[in-house]
Amino acid sequence: ELNSIPRRRERIDEFYTIGAKLGKGSFSVVFEGTERSTGIKYAVKVIKRSLIKQKLLDREIEIMTSLRHPNILFCKEVYEDDESIFLILELIKGGELYDKIVDQGEYSEEESRRIVRQIVDAVEYLHQNGIAHRDLKPENILCEILPGSTEELQLIHIKVADFGLSKMFSREDLFTKCGSPIYVAPEVISSKPYDQSVDLWSIGIITYVLLTGCFPFYEEKKNFKILYEKISNVRYEFPSDPQLSTEARDFVSRLLVREGKDRMTPQQCKEHPWLQNRHQKDRT
Ligand code: ADP
Ligand code: MG
Repeated sequence: ELNSIPRRRERIDEFYTIGAKLGKGSFSVVFEGTERSTGIKYAVKVIKRSLIKQKLLDREIEIMTSLRHPNILFCKEVYEDDESIFLILELIKGGELYDKIVDQGEYSEEESRRIVRQIVDAVEYLHQNGIAHRDLKPENILCEILPGSTEELQLIHIKVADFGLSKMFSREDLFTKCGSPIYVAPEVISSKPYDQSVDLWSIGIITYVLLTGCFPFYEEKKNFKILYEKISNVRYEFPSDPQLSTEARDFVSRLLVREGKDRMTPQQCKEHPWLQNRHQKDRT
């Protein structure tokens, strides 16, 4: 059982100095905050109560504050007053994986593998605790560039953020920064009930995007009908450039599968030759 932390009714500004704005979501604003007693910097996510149903907010905050994993954004404390909820989150300086991909174009197989392994670890932990993220995408993955990174190999530590809240934002969150619902799984489109395996579909999409710099399912003119049809029938191709290893293609193709039950589990992802960095050559 997970143990969540209590919510504090004290005034947040007695304990934290609120600084510059770091970002903004559809239901929140995020500021830098310095803890007065230690001088340590955090991110303070301010959510207005009026925008969200109380019961959902309570449940999701409880989930968020009870998770402890190196690849999941850590929530240290929660403050509240009559108007707002304040989540005190660890401060992540490297920005969103989304922006990294836009800057970089695509990642090498080695870099992609290192990132995907961390996402799989986070998702395995969530699922073991009975939680599905439901909205995994590069906008919701925060990054830290580690020392020792070179031109050839960027070492990134990732933190999955913004989970749990996705359920109440679900309609909004079908859409990404590109304004297109390119991450949704077939069962979400067909409004069937869905389970944890939606996260494995998302890992398939993210892996494809990391490796190629493009989306597996895309429609230029925001033609959602065609886009949805492509997703439902899992119609996608691998680009000829960059050339991907057989293992990488196999990994993606075992996640971008129509039926959730036929997708790899996090455990199976970890055992897959691509994540294990075992090549066909080595096996013969
Ligand atoms: P919402 O749930 O409203 O979408 P997010 O949690 O995505 O809000 O936060 C909005 C933005 O604030 C993020 O896209 C990110 O750029 C920034 N941000 C959020 N949490 C942190 C953090 N812990 N450290 C640094 N920046 C953050
Ligand atoms: Mg967000």
